[in-house]
Amino acid sequence: MTLEKLNRQLRQCNECGLFLTRSNVICGEGNPHAHLMLVAQAPGEHEDIEDRMFIGPSGQILTGFLEKSGVRKEDIYMTNLIKCTLPGNRKPKNVEIKSCGRYLEREIDLVNPSVIATMGYYAARYIFCRYGIDFPESKGDVSEIFGKLFYAGSVNLYPMGHTAAILYHLDLEAGMENHYRKLYVLSKRCRWYDVCPLKYFSEKGMIDKKWTEYYCHGDWESCVRYWKEEKGEYHPDEMLPDGSIMKA
Ligand code: SF4
Repeated sequence: MTLEKLNRQLRQCNECGLFLTRSNVICGEGNPHAHLMLVAQAPGEHEDIEDRMFIGPSGQILTGFLEKSGVRKEDIYMTNLIKCTLPGNRKPKNVEIKSCGRYLEREIDLVNPSVIATMGYYAARYIFCRYGIDFPESKGDVSEIFGKLFYAGSVNLYPMGHTAAILYHLDLEAGMENHYRKLYVLSKRCRWYDVCPLKYFSEKGMIDKKWTEYYCHGDWESCVRYWKEEKGEYHPDEMLPDGSIMKA
């Protein structure tokens, strides 16, 4: 299976009732080998008409955030949980999430990203469930997890609010922009990784892989070693990303 073949299947899909009201099936876009995958909820009416991702009002906000963050769209892979527009921008039904989630599963397997960033409640809930990570029971508590990185074994999860929310609540913009700014860091692995002793220790099984997965392939900006390298300051090989020293 390739993304091209998957997208050919997608364009013919009639597994849920949304095929009756869509103009186009909106397939994922961007780098098929990306480090970072961005998963939004569903295309809006502009996307549906023009057959492109993120061209409507909330997409334009996203584009602005990505530009400010320094992330190029062609360097990441962008997709939706639901590939067909939801009439009147209504919430997705469980049957639609179940039908369309199968395509997202295959996209994740094919792209094999190190970080999956989600936009909004439904995409975060689906992805957290997929990786068996606890998800807030109350919808009101979901914003508590936005802007935090979660280690999920083979991948890190980074849930964010959906930019569409800013269209109705302008006061959310500053906080959300701050969360989206982190995408630059999450879109590439640490530039010191190839020469870092932690790579060797991790490959030899001398430390838990979560150290390199979470920091080196995820939030290297929070690594103490990273800043020591940047500033040319001495640090022992045994120093872990949180600044503690490996036990012998
Ligand atoms: S341990 Fe820190 S400095 Fe070394 S590769 Fe990982 S993030 Fe970079």
